[in-house]
Amino acid sequence: MAYFNELMEASLSAVDPDIKALTDKELDRQRTHIELIASENFVPRAVMECQGSILTNKYAEGYPHKKYYGGCEFVEVIEEIAIERAKKLFGAGHANVQPHSGTTANQAAYFTVMKPGDTMLAMKLDQGGHLSHGHPLNFTSMIYKVVSYGVNRDTEMIDYDEVASLAREYRPKVIVAGASAYPRRIDFARFRAVADDIGAYLITDMAHIAGLVAGGAHDNPIPHSHFVTSTTQKSLRGPRGAFVLCTEEFAKDLDRTVFPGIQGGPLLPAIAAKAVCFKLASEPSFEDYARQVVRNAAALAKAMQGRGYRLVSGGTDNHMMLLDLRSRSLTGKAAEKILEEAGITVNKNAIPFDPEKPMVTSGLRLGSPAVTTRGMKEPEMELIAEAVDEVLSSPEDKGVISKVRGRMAELGAAFPLYESMK
Ligand SMILES: *Cc1c(COP(=O)(O)O)cnc(C)c1O
Repeated sequence: MAYFNELMEASLSAVDPDIKALTDKELDRQRTHIELIASENFVPRAVMECQGSILTNKYAEGYPHKKYYGGCEFVEVIEEIAIERAKKLFGAGHANVQPHSGTTANQAAYFTVMKPGDTMLAMKLDQGGHLSHGHPLNFTSMIYKVVSYGVNRDTEMIDYDEVASLAREYRPKVIVAGASAYPRRIDFARFRAVADDIGAYLITDMAHIAGLVAGGAHDNPIPHSHFVTSTTQKSLRGPRGAFVLCTEEFAKDLDRTVFPGIQGGPLLPAIAAKAVCFKLASEPSFEDYARQVVRNAAALAKAMQGRGYRLVSGGTDNHMMLLDLRSRSLTGKAAEKILEEAGITVNKNAIPFDPEKPMVTSGLRLGSPAVTTRGMKEPEMELIAEAVDEVLSSPEDKGVISKVRGRMAELGAAFPLYESMK
């Protein structure tokens, strides 16, 4: 009895000091490093409170007011609120907030309108597409025939004429718009025109740009798409999780596909956190955030170009950019590693028509959502560009790396993160 109570009330540091110590180290890393991974962000404490809450104890298979378990009277209201807020935020007819991840959200949309053996047309993975758009080892390639479009070799922007001609040639059931590494605005109306031309469904995967869409800093794909899928953890600044939006017409089929089709019980802590995320993203201050994300990316891009770096497509319209490192005789893999040592976190990324292998690459992807959340603005983007350039210009110089690491920790300290913790 006493043991039971002690266990139930004991802190993480008492129960598992190893995991506690590593979590503390990770907090320190997040505070002292400059986070430029384009798909990452820092969530508000309120979002974390949901995720660390007693909601984790509850099963709630099914949908609000049609749950398969007792005791759902409060959690189903949480889910209802999340659904209503998602619909309102993006102007959608229907929302499903249960998908555990962006990949699962895409699976749900695909399964709702495609049968095994059908054809889908999506962006090439080595030119910006996501694994769930047709990687050879992904379920998409096992179940569907995947055809891929890319970017124009000269402009490095989506080749909409190629999208149209591939659509006419292969007559896919689904066309996917959206990317993980594409620095330019996406023309959803143009995608929809191609889809309508051949009677295909347009699924827009806005995982990366959802925060920009919510904040009015990117066109909204909703009016043009049959389905819109998204994660919540990227520019939208919510928990790790996802959702699918669609018109009323597909609501029932989509819901059935998510549960019981591909998932069991929903993750209620994540759903509560999504509700909080949607609330925050609908406030006027989030518009300021989204605008600043775009301004910061533009400032960082300009500062890198000013230091002689080539950017894929010549710049950025959104929250991210791709640096072409070939002129510096550095691979993406090597650059990622030395920047990490210098306190700057980025990820290597293929550039269009990359001569290097996917695990090596010739590019780096830099993004502004996380540093913008910390409160950094254009002057800090200049400091970061200077630091990145210093490190990449002297990749062998341990002195430079350690000096930059100190400067980045100071910069981090000037923009405190989670001060109420520890
Ligand atoms: C991040 C991302 C996803 C997948 O998200 P996970 O939650 O990691 O499964 C899907 N599509 C695009 C375009 C993404 O960038």
